Amino acid sequence: MKEIIHEYLSEEKLNNRIKELGEQITADFEGEELYVVCILKGAVYFATELTKRINLPITLDFMSASSYGADTKSSGVVKITRDLDESLKDKNVLIIEDIVDTGRTLSYLLEMLKKRQPKSIKLCTLLDKPERRVTEVNVDYCGFEVPDEFVVGYGLDYAQKYRNLPYIGLLEFVES
Ligand code: 5GP
Repeated sequence: MKEIIHEYLSEEKLNNRIKELGEQITADFEGEELYVVCILKGAVYFATELTKRINLPITLDFMSASSYGADTKSSGVVKITRDLDESLKDKNVLIIEDIVDTGRTLSYLLEMLKKRQPKSIKLCTLLDKPERRVTEVNVDYCGFEVPDEFVVGYGLDYAQKYRNLPYIGLLEFVES
């Protein structure tokens, strides 16, 4: 099978929307500090661009949770493979994710992080696939809703490839 990528969201569209999200978050948290949690690895490209557009004092931290393996189907198993450096107690926490699909990963992570007694906790995702939701997740900031297709690029991978594409593409498999 050969993999073909069809451009779906251009670099320009992504940049424009990320700028808007940054402005919105800046306004919503005016006068506050933010503890930004980037979920590895998929959200790295989005998190670095977005945080440059947030005009507030921020601390950037990383958390890693396994979801997909080298397949395109969610396993439903969430495992924390890298935890945060600092306590979240009394902090305004902003979780940055690449995509919310079934919602299993995020609902698990949010419940776990809420127990650490942050002042507030919000979720910002670049992409949302609402059609696929099996577990309810409150998305506070969303870049784009996408259809039920497998997307790659801008941090999102297929078997660890394509993360460095500057756009979001739809992955298609064709007979080679
Ligand atoms: P969920 O737990 O919401 O089903 O899955 C979330 C994770 O699955 C995302 O963080 C991402 O790693 C992966 N995922 C879900 N849909 C896609 C997709 O269309 N493309 C890629 N590359 N990863 C996806």
